[in-house]
Amino acid sequence: MNYILKGHWALVITQSALTGCSGGSDDNPPVNETPQLLTVSTLSAGGGALEPAEVKVSKGKTAEFVAKPEAGYELTELSGCAGKRTGVAYKVEQVEQKCQVTARFSPIRYRLDATVSQGGNVDTSTQQVAYGSAAEFVFTPNSDYILERVGGCNGVRTEGRYRIPEVTESCTVSALFLPYLPDPESVTRIRLPVVVHVLDNGHFELSDEQILSQLRATNLHFRGKNSAEIETIPETYTPFVADTGIQFYLADTDPDGQPHSGIVRVDATASVFALEGYPFARSDAGGSDAWPTDRYINIWVGMSRTRFNEPVLAGRAHVPGSAPESSIGVSIEQGLFGTIAPREPNYDQGKTLTHELGHFLGLIGHTNPPWNDQNTHRHLSCDGQEQSECVNADLTMNFMSTNVYDNGQKMFSLSQSQLMRAWLETGPLQALYVNNQP
Ligand SMILES: [Zn+2]
Repeated sequence: MNYILKGHWALVITQSALTGCSGGSDDNPPVNETPQLLTVSTLSAGGGALEPAEVKVSKGKTAEFVAKPEAGYELTELSGCAGKRTGVAYKVEQVEQKCQVTARFSPIRYRLDATVSQGGNVDTSTQQVAYGSAAEFVFTPNSDYILERVGGCNGVRTEGRYRIPEVTESCTVSALFLPYLPDPESVTRIRLPVVVHVLDNGHFELSDEQILSQLRATNLHFRGKNSAEIETIPETYTPFVADTGIQFYLADTDPDGQPHSGIVRVDATASVFALEGYPFARSDAGGSDAWPTDRYINIWVGMSRTRFNEPVLAGRAHVPGSAPESSIGVSIEQGLFGTIAPREPNYDQGKTLTHELGHFLGLIGHTNPPWNDQNTHRHLSCDGQEQSECVNADLTMNFMSTNVYDNGQKMFSLSQSQLMRAWLETGPLQALYVNNQP
């Protein structure tokens, strides 16, 4: 009680002193003037705060603050009252008037990297992501690979998508792609990119899935992994069934190096089999321009039917030396391309492309008469040697036989494998081979 009263008295005294001062003179200067306190307030935006939140100082005195960001935030602005920043510290040397110090805190942006093995790609290799945000990468295997696993950054995988629900630090996501076919046993794997040009005349459908089904089938054929039908080959010939080591995948980059599906769809008027001027391979003639033939295998797929709706041709190979450089590749009638029903009866197992690629890779003739060329594998026996007991003509189950339908074509022979690999490694398709070495 006493103290309160004393305080009251003190206030009264002070007030009277001030009152006295108002009429004073130089001879009677004010004494014990109460210092004028100036408020320096703060304003903090985002995740963090200035400490202290406010200070009161006498005019001309110093005010100091420290900016304290919350986890995941960083100080991005600190200003006001003509102060000076040193890191997270802020010092107003001489406070001259009431003022405000402002601090802004922003979420830290973390760097997320994605690395991929051979055999596939990622939609973006680096992302800058704010603290606490979600991020996603999309991994796409080449058509002859699978996404075996993906991990890092505490993400969750759903097929090819990898989602990181909450980013709290910089980190790396890694993906491993593996071939869906095993390593060949006696030869090296040769992977060749293909581009499929769909010459769309508006009268057929050819889905991406259909195209993938075709490549998958052809890869099984070239790799000798069409096991069920190989089991039906007579024992005499099974020692000659080849795993050529050659396989195909949809190109994942275009000629300029940009990501691409490897499927080109064009509104086309050209016949996929017209030889006069090779219009199927010319965009200015109703077709689709070839991608560089020393880097890609071009496959044109289009409609070519008689008025009875029968294929004019099943397929044709345009082999180096026998066709213009700009049309090197193969043409296939759309109804015989792929293995997803409905397909052309008897040509529904994707053997047409396999057969034409056999031609393209140097198997110029067929394993059945009539013999029609000077450069054919028919001179080689089915075990890779000339003039042995076993001759290719016996191989009625060969992919290069025209005497049987799709269900009769089941194998390439070892000699055919040797010839095709030689055409790539040292022959007319050497540039294609060299340019696609891993
Ligand atoms: Zn043929």
